[in-house]
Amino acid sequence: MRESNLLVSKTLGHVAGMLKVGVTGKYIDKSAEEFIRDHGGIPGFKGYRGFPATLCMSLNESVVHGIPSDYAFEESDVVSVDCGVILNGFYGDAAFTFAFTGVQEGVEDLLMVTREALYKGIEQVVIGNRVGDISYAIQHYCEKVHGYGIVRELVGHGVGRSLHEEPDVPNFGSKGKGPILKEGMVIAIEPMVNMGHRGVKQKSDGWTIVTKDGKPSAHFEHSVAVRKSGVDILSDHSYIDDAIKNNAEIINISRNC
Ligand code: MG
Ligand code: MG
Repeated sequence: MRESNLLVSKTLGHVAGMLKVGVTGKYIDKSAEEFIRDHGGIPGFKGYRGFPATLCMSLNESVVHGIPSDYAFEESDVVSVDCGVILNGFYGDAAFTFAFTGVQEGVEDLLMVTREALYKGIEQVVIGNRVGDISYAIQHYCEKVHGYGIVRELVGHGVGRSLHEEPDVPNFGSKGKGPILKEGMVIAIEPMVNMGHRGVKQKSDGWTIVTKDGKPSAHFEHSVAVRKSGVDILSDHSYIDDAIKNNAEIINISRNC
């Protein structure tokens, strides 16, 4: 599963280098599919319940499950990119949200907080803790500390030979509640955080989830393994950070906030 998640991570790094004003999501999606297949993997989302693309690309008020299109990116855009692959029979799953240099005020903070929230959740991945410990840590940090809205309708999940396995990993909940974390479990933790109200709805394309208030949303995801030695983060955002350093059109989202 580390191998499938590394391929996801490298694909997201490849995407990070391609995000430029004037480029379309569809063009990047095609390149991501070629990248995955060139490395011996199979796109994990394409065809999943009929999803038509390799990447989910969710623009501005879109939260998740956006379909790459012929829309050409503009310098005020914020776009979440979610990628899944199958390699050696196992799924990898990770996501990152990118901000172009002209994004509206507050978006950079939203992204930093959402990225940090992912790690607040990951810190709770300890044998014997419960899923609710992860959920509470994320919710508390985003809602209580920073005043953002946590999406309730979509959640993290177990991942392995299937893309979505037990247990659900909500981004809201109570400490000490939910399934116990056991050695060998692999879960995808993925806070979805709205700048405004937490309410979301689905667009008529049957896929894209958007905020009801039209304000921007952010999404960061890692797949992590529960191990005796502690949490083992299988996906790796450093490929993305490295690519962003060389892409002047994308803001560097640091974890220090
Ligand atoms: Mg994902
Ligand atoms: Mg996921």
